[in-house]
Amino acid sequence: MKDPVVVLGGGVAGLAAAHYLARGGWPVTVVERSATLGGLCGSFQSHGFTLDHGPHKLYSVVPGILDEIRGLLGADLIEHKKRNRIRLLGRYLDYPLSLGNLLPLLGPVRAARLGLGYAAALLGGMWSRRAPASYEEYVLQRFGRGVYELVFEPLAWKVWGDPRQLSVDLARARIPSAGATELILRLLKLKEDTEDVDAPFFYYPRGGFGRFPERLAAEVRRAGGRILTSSAPCALERVDGTVRAVHVETGGTAERIPCATLVSSIPMSALARLLYPGDAHVEAEVAQLRLRDLALVYLVLDQDRLVDDHWIFFPEKRYPFNRLFEQKSMDPSLGPPGLTAVCCDITCDEGDAVWAAPEAELVRRCMDALVEAGLTTPEKLRAGFVRRFRSFYPMYTVDYRERLGRVYARLKEADNLVLTGRVGMFNYNNSDHCLDMGRFIAGGMAAGKPPREIWSGLEERVRSYRIID
Ligand SMILES: Cc1cc2nc3c(=O)[nH]c(=O)nc-3n(C[C@H](O)[C@H](O)[C@H](O)COP(=O)(O)OP(=O)(O)OC[C@H]3O[C@@H](n4cnc5c(N)ncnc54)[C@H](O)[C@@H]3O)c2cc1C
Repeated sequence: MKDPVVVLGGGVAGLAAAHYLARGGWPVTVVERSATLGGLCGSFQSHGFTLDHGPHKLYSVVPGILDEIRGLLGADLIEHKKRNRIRLLGRYLDYPLSLGNLLPLLGPVRAARLGLGYAAALLGGMWSRRAPASYEEYVLQRFGRGVYELVFEPLAWKVWGDPRQLSVDLARARIPSAGATELILRLLKLKEDTEDVDAPFFYYPRGGFGRFPERLAAEVRRAGGRILTSSAPCALERVDGTVRAVHVETGGTAERIPCATLVSSIPMSALARLLYPGDAHVEAEVAQLRLRDLALVYLVLDQDRLVDDHWIFFPEKRYPFNRLFEQKSMDPSLGPPGLTAVCCDITCDEGDAVWAAPEAELVRRCMDALVEAGLTTPEKLRAGFVRRFRSFYPMYTVDYRERLGRVYARLKEADNLVLTGRVGMFNYNNSDHCLDMGRFIAGGMAAGKPPREIWSGLEERVRSYRIID
């Protein structure tokens, strides 16, 4: 019999770790605070629709992960050829952007400036040996000032904050782009786009994205694992540097769950409070790792469909949201005929104007924007509501690696702890990466590696993750 493992958090990252561990023969218990599983990858029911938390697709360039996804969901996967556009200068353009699409919109002077800036950036990038120091420098080196100011600068302000203060790691993870030579070949159409910069297709689980975490949970249970929901971890029992048990409270009942290894996918602030109760110094250090919040504005419209895209980017400041996503574009059976539901995602910070705005106000702002963008008319609005989530966007500031290193060093004092997940590890990622992290942890344990060594391996591994639109 192998030693028991406790996994904190039942989002995709926690469930993936539990799935691979349970499959490998470890007795696993997942402790999830909320009543439902799946975290941000879960689906929910409202107004006759099955809805996701913004646009979620399944795709991966991590070797072997697409096969894992096929193995888990098989015939329940719908394969989509991706359809995306971006709203710029009052028009809808195909995404990823091409200069051919963009230049005719700009007028001759601006087009020439943008084209020249782009060419200079490409040529500069071919010869420059200087590594970019920030998000801004990364994008300028690859696309030039014109494209930067038009698309990437406003997008950064909307989603992550001041682009001069953002780490180049964010740009590498979020805007994968090949080297200068390859960009020129693509521009001249001498080379096709490759699947590590643009997903040619993606999968969507039939019945809602939440089927993915549900499937993981079913596999955990099938392999003998235990999953507790509405269960709050309230204390960690430590002997010297080792966490020996997790004390939880589930529906008023307290329980001590022994553990030889602790895997955590919950926010580091929550974990630090459990590991170092009342330690203001640790709390302050963890607070240095900033996470932005998320408001998802859902609109139910009196029309069968709104757009032909899976999602549309809205980088310009005059639109209150980052993206528009129509649920039925993933699976038309997710809502009743004659009605459609869309989701507008807005990044915000607790206490700012968006976070504090009343629900009706955010619904009105998003609806007004859709009308202004020529997509619908005001009387089509049937219903609207907002879901808000704290701390979901890890902010990669230029000094985030040092800050993260300090926090990791404190948390590693618990010698049988491994972190995983997006918020759990402070790693800007997608669910395919969470699956990979779980597989990596179980693989390390099967090879007899100690938790700290697995965690260090994971730190190295997550640097290569890329989010492919
Ligand atoms: C708008 C948007 C679009 C996205 N698009 C995609 C996409 O197209 N494809 C894709 O693969 N990914 C996408 N993602 C990213 C994806 O949502 C994340 O990678 C994934 O949800 C991270 O999973 P996680 O388990 O790490 O975190 P979470 O989903 O946050 O799960 C953490 C879990 O821990 C629980 N928890 C928190 N605190 C405690 C506690 N104290 N005790 C116990 N449990 C606790 C929470 O309730 C939650 O269930 C998108 C995200 C957003 C916001």
